[in-house]
Amino acid sequence: MNFVTACIDTKALVRNLRTIRARVPDSKLVAVVKANAYGHGLYPVAQALSQEADAFAVSRISEALSLRNQGIDKPIVLLEGFYNDEDVEIISRLDFYTAVHSLFQVEAIERHPGIKPLHCWVQADIGMHRLGAAQTGELREIKTRLERLPQVYQPLGLIAHLSVADTPAEQGYHEEQVKRFWQIASELEFTGDLSLGNSAGILRWPDTHSPWVRPGIILYGISPFADQTGEELGLTPVMTLKSTLLTVHRLKKGAKVGYGAAFVAERDTVLGVVAVGYGDGYPRTAPNGTPVLVGGRLVPSAGHVCMDMMFVDLGPESRDRPGDEVILWGRGLPVEKIAAACGTIPYELVCHIMPRVNVEFTAWGAG
Ligand SMILES: *Cc1c(COP(=O)(O)O)cnc(C)c1O
Repeated sequence: MNFVTACIDTKALVRNLRTIRARVPDSKLVAVVKANAYGHGLYPVAQALSQEADAFAVSRISEALSLRNQGIDKPIVLLEGFYNDEDVEIISRLDFYTAVHSLFQVEAIERHPGIKPLHCWVQADIGMHRLGAAQTGELREIKTRLERLPQVYQPLGLIAHLSVADTPAEQGYHEEQVKRFWQIASELEFTGDLSLGNSAGILRWPDTHSPWVRPGIILYGISPFADQTGEELGLTPVMTLKSTLLTVHRLKKGAKVGYGAAFVAERDTVLGVVAVGYGDGYPRTAPNGTPVLVGGRLVPSAGHVCMDMMFVDLGPESRDRPGDEVILWGRGLPVEKIAAACGTIPYELVCHIMPRVNVEFTAWGAG
């Protein structure tokens, strides 16, 4: 009945987490499950990892609330903190950990004496210029003001995010960022939870292995690096996006396929119409020739991806039938390859799975 299914392998998720733990045995693991667990399903992913992860991290308070309300009782870190007073009360009541990146947040906390103490991670900007205080003076002010408050747990944590841990051309800048993090930690005497490493840091840079690390994309078996796949890094892809061949047509050389006639057959061939499109989250930017797995063999896509369908060139010898399984990415076809073909990163592709896609949770394991 279901045309498009995202199969989520929860065993692979657990295996990836254990693989990560073996790489950073001395660190606690904060499993990053923001954006619906990178499109894999927020609660089911957290549930599958609830025995193994030391904490979870999300970006929005709504995501943290949803996890708490469904019974996740591990620490939940708010990577973006909060921006209004109402949220301070929610964070306190539900015992979330919050990043504190600006003085206006310190003031909001100061306005709430008497609440249940907050777990605060002071956020430093070490070079990305997204969130966090960059200057030592401002960091010191945030820290000393939070240290005075009985409604804040002590000692405070310190969190910072790496911006070029996956960018070889910026190795010098990466090293400056790491140095700055450890310098802040020692100069300002942060003795609480220290958190730096992301996926790329965990895999490539031992000096980012802070006491708490924050793996995101690698949990899902996907590589943070442009030149390697997750499988090449010893990870197992968690999501496999599947659909079905709707029909096949014999085409004559010169036939013009799809909107805008973006594909023209260079020979007589068999064209397959697959039930998946950008309305499911398959990227419309996929060019002619993007690989698709049909009946276990790789075939090139043809023409523009439509909202609900796309085309594949099955070749003149095709014996494919309507109803045959089609794999868009996942097992046997790394999502990294599709992202590269589309000029984007795999993070974006898995995040964009649309609500109408059927999501199935299975525990395949290595198999
Ligand atoms: C998204 C995010 C992560 C995880 O990044 P990956 O590259 O997926 O490992 C870690 N920390 C912060 C602050 C983030 O925003």
